[in-house]
Amino acid sequence: MSSGSSDFLRPYEEARGGSSLQPVFRFAPSPNGYLHIGHAYSVLRNYEMAREQDGRFLLRIEDIDIDRCRPDYEQAIYEDLAWLGITWEQPVLRQSEHFAVYASAVERLRERGLLYPCFCTRLDISRAVSGVRDWPRDPDGAPIYPGTCRHLSLDERDRRLASGQHAALRIDMSQALSEAGMLLAWCEYGEGDEPRDVRAEPMLWGDTVLARKDIPTSYHVSVVIDDARQGITDVVRGKDLFNATSLHRLLQALLDLPAPRYRHHDLLRDAAGQKLSKSTRAKSIRTLRAEGVKPEDVRRRLGFDLAPHH
Ligand code: GLU
Repeated sequence: MSSGSSDFLRPYEEARGGSSLQPVFRFAPSPNGYLHIGHAYSVLRNYEMAREQDGRFLLRIEDIDIDRCRPDYEQAIYEDLAWLGITWEQPVLRQSEHFAVYASAVERLRERGLLYPCFCTRLDISRAVSGVRDWPRDPDGAPIYPGTCRHLSLDERDRRLASGQHAALRIDMSQALSEAGMLLAWCEYGEGDEPRDVRAEPMLWGDTVLARKDIPTSYHVSVVIDDARQGITDVVRGKDLFNATSLHRLLQALLDLPAPRYRHHDLLRDAAGQKLSKSTRAKSIRTLRAEGVKPEDVRRRLGFDLAPHH
């Protein structure tokens, strides 16, 4: 593993004036839809823990997906959070304003031979694995990349890049593991008060994409960089991101970033036991507001005490 502080973090470390013991929490929504009651639960968990621990609470807009994110959704996030009685520090970090930072971290990994360009389309990949029964899938349900472009010769890579073909950058997982070591773990609180060590299993993701064809980063790269840049000490988020943390720990090790504590909370379920999400048409906070539901009702229903505290 390389040593020394990461250059792309330095301005932030100076701005923060060094480390402090004060806990720092964050809520990091993507403005690709309206917030629903599951988001309300997650943000209130963060906000209330920050308050109880005399910590800071930050909001981060994760809008790297420029095709799916919209300014009106972002505006709605601010309004819905304010309606819930939540306040946050300014300025708000908007990831779409920081592509150069993420790109420089990706470049560092690429220079170390940990990434390779991949020209495959989704269709190429599904064709390549279609003949194989029970081909393994990553925690997001995508087939593990079969490694097609890992085997391209340097000449072939250069030829394709020079001819203007778009390439994503994938992590060479076995190479990355041999650099970062196999014994990565994180401190997990789950729903309890006592932390436990969880062994990271980044290999679950295979040679996953770290920089997409259309944007020079990915959720995984941006989130670890911003958790570090913003000095986040406690990541509190839903259990649906539990497995992503394995990959985040690997990236933190490779980029010399500190590891926050993690708490992956239970997900809210609807009456039928389905996870609440946009895809299951959970009621948005907007809709609840329009129906005359009060913020106190939402807080009570989610198990938080009644008065928002400032
Ligand atoms: N932006 C991600 C989402 O909306 C959350 C990221 C995180 O909390 O790490 O699902």
